[in-house]
Amino acid sequence: MTHPSEAPASQALFDRALAVVPGGVNSPVRAFRAVGGTPRFMVSGTGPYLTDADGREYVDLVCSWGPMILGHAHPAVVEALQRAATRGTSFGTPSPGEVDLAEEIVRRVAPVEQVRLVNSGTEATMSAVRLARGFTGRTKVVKFAGCYHGHVDALLASAGSGVVTLGLPDTPGVTGATAADTIVLPYNDLALVRAAFEEAGDQIACVITEASAANMGVVPPLPGFNQGVKDLCAAHGALFISDEVMTGFRVTPAGWYGLEGVEPDLLTFGKVMGGGLPAAAFGGRADVMQRLAPAGPVYQAGTLSGNPLAVAAGLTTLQHCTDEVYAHVDATAATVARLVSEALDAEGVAHRVNTAGSLFSVFFADHAVVDHATATRQSVARYKAFFHALLDRGVYLPPSAYEAWFVSAAHDDTAIARVAEALPHAARAAAAVPAPDVVAADTADDRA
Ligand SMILES: *Cc1c(COP(=O)(O)O)cnc(C)c1O
Repeated sequence: MTHPSEAPASQALFDRALAVVPGGVNSPVRAFRAVGGTPRFMVSGTGPYLTDADGREYVDLVCSWGPMILGHAHPAVVEALQRAATRGTSFGTPSPGEVDLAEEIVRRVAPVEQVRLVNSGTEATMSAVRLARGFTGRTKVVKFAGCYHGHVDALLASAGSGVVTLGLPDTPGVTGATAADTIVLPYNDLALVRAAFEEAGDQIACVITEASAANMGVVPPLPGFNQGVKDLCAAHGALFISDEVMTGFRVTPAGWYGLEGVEPDLLTFGKVMGGGLPAAAFGGRADVMQRLAPAGPVYQAGTLSGNPLAVAAGLTTLQHCTDEVYAHVDATAATVARLVSEALDAEGVAHRVNTAGSLFSVFFADHAVVDHATATRQSVARYKAFFHALLDRGVYLPPSAYEAWFVSAAHDDTAIARVAEALPHAARAAAAVPAPDVVAADTADDRA
């Protein structure tokens, strides 16, 4: 018998991957660098479970970083894909499913009058920023430290997700000229947004923000923050872009907009709306969207945009995201968050659970986490211990202390009971790591 922390089949695959793929992965956080150990190569998923190459089963609390809101291999989604595939996988022409999906998005999210389909969240935010610059004739973009908007050059400065996980500085390959047009401000500090507009208001094309920050761990907007940003944008002729790639169609049928009601000029979507296939979108005010080619002069295109398989998976997923699904996901997220807190309390481990709708994450910290500076002052070493104790007991958490946790409609009592059983062990493992007074050392370790 192998010890659960050993994963020989995954390790063999990883060794092969390391020879032909940089770092052995096609997206950095998957490589387990922030937590150590062998990344698990998953071979199948069903409902709330993943199975790795060694045949070990996990309760999945990542859900592909959000998309799998119905659980893995949902029968209706699989059937829709099979039906679509037999009709052909790509035509390079308009096709009916694109219209169905666009109508579904417009129907759900009131500020979206028109929408353009793309292939990834990165493409959605990149295109939205280009459109905002084309519409306003201005150059500067305001973003917030710790917010992640995909790997768009202009938006990588002080980004969340893999950038914060790996403790990377501003990435090589982004030119000084590009970075110079990006103004990075601390999240949740409206006074500094006001100051930026006072200084450079006539040059700011847009402010882009995660609807709720969730790529530095979950850090919800303080009451009035999003509305304040929106009002400043409106007063200065800039566009307010709400990045709902993570929150969209996950926290309510209308995403974060459905919770808070602040009206963005443009919104970006991805993750849930693709149902596990590459589909994403940006949309918003018709007068702005009409500036896009071929209706207007701002160019944007894609060989596979609106791909028939992707729109079939996305539309079927959205159609099955009923009020009951959202209620179940909300309740299950709250249960897991409570169980984690109880287990850590029982061992006297300092922590904060931040929640934003059904998104949540745990910070191993003893202070309120409201922005990037407070998020990164946590004990990553404790997270590592907690992560591996759960992994060994068949619970798959994000392999980073700076990512949101996700549940699905398929996470039932059996799956949650497995998590509950494993948590006391993980809390003890975290407690065994001395509480650090300086966490910068942890962050440095992560890059090794
Ligand atoms: C995941 C994410 C993106 C990037 O989406 P990809 O499909 O990975 O390119 C952009 N913005 C937010 C808020 C995200 O969570």
